[in-house]
Amino acid sequence: MSQISDRLLSLSESATLAMTQKSRDLQAQGFDIINLSIGEPDFNTPEHVKEAAIKAIQNNQTHYPPVPGYPELRKAIVARMKNALGLDYKPEQVVVSAGGKHSLVNVILATINRGDEVVLPAPYWVTYTEQVKLAEGKSVIVKTGIEQDFKMTAAQLEAAITDKTRMLILCSPSNPTGSMYSREELESLAAVLRKHPQVLVLSDEIYDMISYGQKHVSMAQMDGMQDRTIVANGMSKGYAMTGWRMGYICAPLDIAKAVNKLQGQMTSGISTITQAASIAALTGSDEPSRKMTAEFKKRRDIVKALLDAIPGLKVNLPAGAFYFFPNVEAFLGKKAGDKVIANSSDLAMYLLTEGHVATVAGSAFGAEGYIRLSYATSEEKLREAIRRIAEALANLK
Ligand code: PLP
Repeated sequence: MSQISDRLLSLSESATLAMTQKSRDLQAQGFDIINLSIGEPDFNTPEHVKEAAIKAIQNNQTHYPPVPGYPELRKAIVARMKNALGLDYKPEQVVVSAGGKHSLVNVILATINRGDEVVLPAPYWVTYTEQVKLAEGKSVIVKTGIEQDFKMTAAQLEAAITDKTRMLILCSPSNPTGSMYSREELESLAAVLRKHPQVLVLSDEIYDMISYGQKHVSMAQMDGMQDRTIVANGMSKGYAMTGWRMGYICAPLDIAKAVNKLQGQMTSGISTITQAASIAALTGSDEPSRKMTAEFKKRRDIVKALLDAIPGLKVNLPAGAFYFFPNVEAFLGKKAGDKVIANSSDLAMYLLTEGHVATVAGSAFGAEGYIRLSYATSEEKLREAIRRIAEALANLK
C-alpha cells in the first residue's frame, strides 16, 4: 500500500522540467536536440557577484543567518523597490527565500485556506496551480488569448470574483507569453479590486529587468494596492543567478511575519553565500543585466521575423521575458504519417521526436492550442531550431 499523501498525489510534475529532461535523455542517446524548453538565461552570473560569494566563504560567513535574510540584504531590496518602483518598504516587510518558487509557495501557504479561490489568468506559469493545490485552495482560471495579448481584462476579473475569492495571481512580464501589463491595464484591474477588499494580489515580477522598452509597472504602485499586494521577485532571471536559489517578497507586515514564521519551521534562512552574492548583485552595477537584456531583445526580433514567416502560426510580440507563445491551432487535427496531432502536447512531442526541437505544450500553462518557445539560447541555435520547426510543420498533412 502506498503511503504517499493525498496532497502529493494531487500534484502534477512540472511540465517544463519534464520536457527538459526528455530532451536531455534524447541528447544522451546521441540525437542533436535544440532545447527551446529552457526557463533560464544562457548567461553566467556576473563576475563581481561570484567574487562576493568567494569572499563570504573566505570570511567564514558560514553560520546560520536570520530566517528572513541578512538585514543588509533586506535593506538592499528595500532600496531597489524604491529605485525601481518608487515604493517605500521597511526591511521587516521583506523575506528572502530559496528562489522565486519558494517565495510564492510561502505566500500561498501563509494566506490561503482550504476552499479559498485564487484567480489565475491563463496562460499561467505551470507552478501556480500546483502551489494553490498544496494549500488546498481552488484555482479559478480566466482564459485569455493571443488576440488580447494574453492579458486579463477588468470585465473578466470582475466576472471571476466570488465571495470565496482571496487572491489574484499576476505575472508581468509573463512566463509563458512575455506580455506585460501597462499602467492603464493595471489601473483598470485595481478599480475592480477596490470593490473587493478581501482579495490579495500576488504579483510575480521575477522578469521585471527583462523588458524591451515598455516600462515595468507593478500592481503595488496602484492607489491603495500596496497594502494588499505581495510583490514576489528574485535573483534568478534578471541577474542570471538561477542556481543560487534566491527569491524574495515585499509584503504587508502581517503577511511578511507569517511567511517568516512558516520559513522558520521549514527551511530557515537561505545560504549565507547566496545572500552575500545577492547583496553584491543588488548594490553593484546593473550593466551585465542590461547587456543580457539587449541581447535578448536582438534575439526576440530575429525570432519574431522567423516565426512570422511560417504559414499558419500566429505570433505576438513579447514585451519582456524570453519566451514566445505562438498559436498553433492551424496544425491541430493534421497528420504525421498515420498519427493525428490532436493537441499541443502531441505537437510538442512531434517537434521533439521529428524536428529534434524541444518546446513546451501550451496545455501545461492552461492554454491548449499554443506552444512555448524560449529564446534563451544562441542566435545560431535559434535560427536552426526555427528552420527545423518550419520544416516539421510543413510536413504535417
Ligand atoms: N516565477 C516565474 C514566472 C518563473 O518563470 C520562475 C522560474 O521559471 C519563477 C517564478 C521561479 O524562479 P526561481 O528559479 O527563482 O525559483
